[in-house]
This record gives sequence, structure tokens and C-alpha cells, in this order.
Amino acid sequence: MNILLLGSGGRESAFAWKISQSPKCDKLFIAPGNAGTGQYGTNVNLKVTDFKGIKAFCLANSIDMVLVGPEEPLVKGIHDFFLADELLKNIPVIGPQQEGAQLEGSKDYSKAFMQRNNVPTAASRTFTRDTLQEGFDYLATTGLPVVLKADGLAAGKGVLICLTLEEARQELLEMLTEAKFGDASSKVVIEQFLQGIELSVFVMTDGSNYKILPEAKDYKRIGEGDTGLNTGGMGSVSPVPFADAEFMHKVEQRVIIPTIEGLKREGIPYKGFIFIGLMNTYGEPWVIEYNCRMGDPETESVMPRIASDFVDLLLGVADGNLNEKELIIADKTAATVVCVAGGYPGEYLKNKTISGIENVRDSHVFHAGTSLDGDEVKATGGRVLAITSLQDNMFDALQQATADAARIYYDGVYFRKDIGFDLL
Ligand code: AMP
Repeated sequence: MNILLLGSGGRESAFAWKISQSPKCDKLFIAPGNAGTGQYGTNVNLKVTDFKGIKAFCLANSIDMVLVGPEEPLVKGIHDFFLADELLKNIPVIGPQQEGAQLEGSKDYSKAFMQRNNVPTAASRTFTRDTLQEGFDYLATTGLPVVLKADGLAAGKGVLICLTLEEARQELLEMLTEAKFGDASSKVVIEQFLQGIELSVFVMTDGSNYKILPEAKDYKRIGEGDTGLNTGGMGSVSPVPFADAEFMHKVEQRVIIPTIEGLKREGIPYKGFIFIGLMNTYGEPWVIEYNCRMGDPETESVMPRIASDFVDLLLGVADGNLNEKELIIADKTAATVVCVAGGYPGEYLKNKTISGIENVRDSHVFHAGTSLDGDEVKATGGRVLAITSLQDNMFDALQQATADAARIYYDGVYFRKDIGFDLL
């Protein structure tokens, strides 16, 4: 098979690494990819939202399957675009159609879906500019802290946890009347705050059958001890010790099955990944959010734990026989430490030459924000490299990934040295 993978981050590097190991994959193309993905296939200079360019490429290169990494092309309807085109409609796309992608694209849509399907989630209501006063009235009843969420995609920035009523009123006003997050905040979901500890659960589905991939915990804050600004993700660990068999049984029964059944009952086609952001509140799972794709940097910890042929699983999604496929999960721990650019998540340093990758001893180096400049690898994005170590036990995985991250150098390099140590 010839496979086209869309995206350019650490997630796509981990996908590309895993796909390239499959005997079922002849040629792998990554669009646009980064300085590392060229090790696993051929980079193609195409934007993930350039649907016409992607069409021409698929036809010229006999592509047999498209795997979509990020959410943007899914929310913009890339799968629907393929289905509507006579020449493309038989090329399977892994990733939901536009309606299913609304589970991520609109918080209001996903909360309503959860409520209709009895998926446990925090109480919430949605408000617009026209119902601002009702929003203020609702805020007076929710208790504190309270969570305000821009309805649409806001590059991971649209969620505010407000500690005082005054702050919540001010933020609601700015979101609804001053477009604080642009169009994304023309609707705002006001949600009850959930106490607990978070984890990410990943489901692969053909729309009817499903497989539960290894769960992971990610670390969002820039500073050690989970302090400072939010980032795209500073590290991840899989498995998550508190997600024991009893907890995961609850997740499957109360969250995963109702979600898949809900999609089916409501006639929402869905072939791809469902990323379920969960809060473990005193041993009970509550859904914080759905995403319509895999997580980053969780994918970098999840892929190394999958011991079976990943392309065969993708084929199961495409062909609707995922139940006949085998998912083998390695009984090991994967830890990922992300090296970011100096200054990130604010203004950050760019075009710094990376050295030391060859000194990494026992970890995978997944490239994220990197590009090639002649023979040199340059740090060009905020999250630069994801260093993943797979070991027999958690302590060794955490220690090895952290030690290997320290072997990388570029001006301003920064990584957290405490990823996962809270789980020990
Ligand atoms: P989201 O974009 O919905 O994942 O929200 C971003 C982050 O905000 C989550 O990863 C949580 O850490 C936090 N968050 C969102 N909703 C809630 C909630 N209802 N209670 C507590 N924390 C929340």
C-alpha cells in the first residue's frame, strides 16, 4: 500500500515511524512532514488544508490510504471532500467526516452529544452575545472555580478556569462581545469545574467496532511541578498507573460504549480516532473533552507500546472489520520528554542548529518543529523534539527519556526534568 500521512508534528513522526515498520506499507509519504519524518518515508511539500493539492498528489502517486494527523483538515471536511469526489471516493481516509469532527470542532456540539448519550460530563450551558445576561445569571449559580470554554477551535487556548465571579463575568463579556478568541468564542460553554487527575484515553473505531489503545497522561504546563503557562504538551507517559482495570472498565462501560453507540444511533459516520480527555474524580471517570484525532505528545508514548501491525489496524478502520484485527499492547512503559524552543510558549527562538541527536542512547527521537537547512537540522517550531524511551518499568523509562533529552543541544533548549515522576 501507498500511504499519505498528513501533518508535521511529533505525533506524525511517531505515526510515520510505526507505519514504516509494517510489511503492508510500500511507500509512505508525509505532507508536509519535518526534518525527521524523511527517515521513514518521503516528505511532500503540501499544506494539510490544501485539499486540491492533496487530490492531485494522491492521484499521481497511487495513494491507497490517507491518515490525517491534526484536527484542522478534519474539521474543514477533508474526509467529505474525498467522498464527494469521483476519483477519490475509494481512497479511505482515516479520520472522521466533518460532522463527527464536530466532537472536537464545537464544544457546544460535543457537550450536547454527551448529554444526549448519558456520557458523564460536567454540567454546562452554552451562551451567545444575545444571551449574555442569562450567562451572567448562570455564573452566579455555578460555584467556583468555574470553567469558560470558547465553542470553536482556539489553538488550545480557549479554556479559562476562573477563580472569582468577577473574573468569570469579565472573561465571558470579552469572549462574547469582544471576540477574545475570534469567531471561536461567539458561543461560550460555561461548565462546572471538575476536581481530580486527568488522563487521555484513545479509541480507534471503524464506526461500529472499536479498540482501546494504550492510555496516556500528558503534561501541559511549561514549568516543573505543573506550573506556569499552558503549552501544546511537554511530555507524556503510558501506561497511567491509576487507570487500573477497574477504572478502565468504568471508562469502557460508561464512556466508550455510549459514545460509539451514540454515533451509530445518531447516524454520524466515524472512522478514525477518538481522543477522550478524562478527569478521574475519586475513581469515577468524567469526560472533559473529545478530540477527533490522536494527541501530541501522547502519540509518541502510545505508538511504541503497540506491538501489532499498525497498518493492519488502520485497514480494519477503513474496511469496517476492526473486530477481526489484533491489537497487542506491550507490557512496558513509554515516557516522552519534549524539548522546546527557548521562550516557548511565548515568543521563542527560531532557526537554532540542533546537535547531539546521535548521542541519545536508548530513546526514539521524534522530530516536531524541525526543518532541514542543507545538512543541518534546525529548531523551527515551539516544540522541537520528543524523546521517547520504552522500558520494562516506569522509573527506567522516565529516567532514560530525561537523560536522553539532556543529550540534545540547541541555543535556548528547555525540557521538564520531572515528567512522570509524580506517578511513581
Ligand atoms: P479542553 O480544551 O476542554 O481540554 O480544556 C483544557 C484543559 O482545561 C483541560 O485539559 C483541563 O485541564 C482543563 N479543564 C477543562 N474543563 C475542565 C473542567 N470542567 N474542570 C476542570 N478542569 C477543566
